[in-house]
Amino acid sequence: MLDRCGREIDYVRISITDRCNLRCVYCMPERGVTCMRHEDVLSYEEIVRTVRALAALGIRHVRVTGGEPMARRGCLTLVERLHAIPGIETVSMTTNALLLDGCVAWAKEAGLSALNVSLDTLNPDAYRRMTRGGDVSRALSVIGEVLALGLQVKDNAVPVRGMNEEDLPALAMLAKDRPLCVRFIDLMPVGCGAALSPIPTDKVLARLCAALGPLAPDAQPHGFGPARYVRPEGFARSIGLISPMSHEFCGSCNRVRLTADGFLKLCLNHTAGLDVRALLRGGASDDELQAALAGAIAAKPARHGFFENVGDREARRMNEIGG
Ligand code: SAM
Ligand code: SF4
Repeated sequence: MLDRCGREIDYVRISITDRCNLRCVYCMPERGVTCMRHEDVLSYEEIVRTVRALAALGIRHVRVTGGEPMARRGCLTLVERLHAIPGIETVSMTTNALLLDGCVAWAKEAGLSALNVSLDTLNPDAYRRMTRGGDVSRALSVIGEVLALGLQVKDNAVPVRGMNEEDLPALAMLAKDRPLCVRFIDLMPVGCGAALSPIPTDKVLARLCAALGPLAPDAQPHGFGPARYVRPEGFARSIGLISPMSHEFCGSCNRVRLTADGFLKLCLNHTAGLDVRALLRGGASDDELQAALAGAIAAKPARHGFFENVGDREARRMNEIGG
C-alpha cells in the first residue's frame, strides 16, 4: 500500500523477542537488562494473524528479527507459518547465526529465502569484545553451512570507531570468493549506539579502496532495501553501504516494524505507531484490525529526523525494536 508520502510499503520486520544470547556494544548493555514479560510478547498465533492482515494490505516481504530470533523456541516453525501466508513472497531472518548451529537445513526447509548475519569483524578478540563473549569461529561455520545449502546470505557489519575499523577490509574480503554480500551499516544513535562513535560511510569507502583497489558502482538490485553497492575488481559479490545517517534515504523507505510486544513502529527514530496487541487482545475483527493497520501505515513519518528535535524520539534499544 501507499503511505501519505506516496511510498510503497511492502516490507515488515518482525521482532519476535527482545532476548539475546549476545550483548553487542551498540545494541544492549552488558548487565542489568530488563526483558519484556512473557505475557506481553505476541504469541506466534497473534503474529500470524497480524501478518495475514498486513499481507491483505500489500505487505509482500517479512523479516524475522529480535533480539536474537533463534533464542525464541519454535522460531523456525513460525517461519514456516509465515511462509505459508497467501501474498507473502519472501521470509528472511536477521540473526547473529550462533544458535543456527545444527539447524541450518531445517531453516531452509521452513522456507527461509535469505539470511542476514551480523558479523562486525573476523578478528576473534575484537568479535568477543564487540559481542561481549561471542565465538567468531562458530558464526563463520554457520555461514559456511548456509552457503553450502545455497541460501542467500548477507553479512551486516556496523563500523565502530576504536572497535573494528582496522578489520573492515578483511571482512569485505568475505565477498571475494564466496557468494556473500558484505554490507556496512551506519552506527545509529539508538539505544546503546548513542554512546559510541560512528565511522561515516565515506571513511569506510576510503579504507576499503586503499586496501582493495578501485570500487566500481554496482547498480543491480540486491534485495528490497536501501543499500548501495560497489564491487572491487575480481570479487564474486558486492560490498553494500547502508547509510541512513550519512545519506538519508527516507524518501524510498518501504518498511514498517512490529515489536515483540506488538507495537507497529512506523519509523526507527519515532515512537509513532499502533498498539496492535491491544487490538488483537481487545477482540478486534479482522476488518477492524486491517483498517487500523492501514490507517497507521498511511501516516508513516516522512523522515527519521535523527539530527532534529523530532518530539517523539524513540528511546528503546535496538534489541527491543528489531534493528
Ligand atoms: N540479533 C540479530 C542480529 O544481531 O542480527 C537480530 C537483531 S539486531 C537488533 C538487528 C541488527 O541491528 C543487527 O544487524 C545489528 O548489527 C543492528 N544494530 C543494533 N544496534 C545498532 C545500532 N545502534 N546501529 C546500527 N545497527 C544496529
Ligand atoms: Fe543481540 Fe543482535 Fe543486539 Fe547483538 S545486535 S545484542 S546479536 S540483538
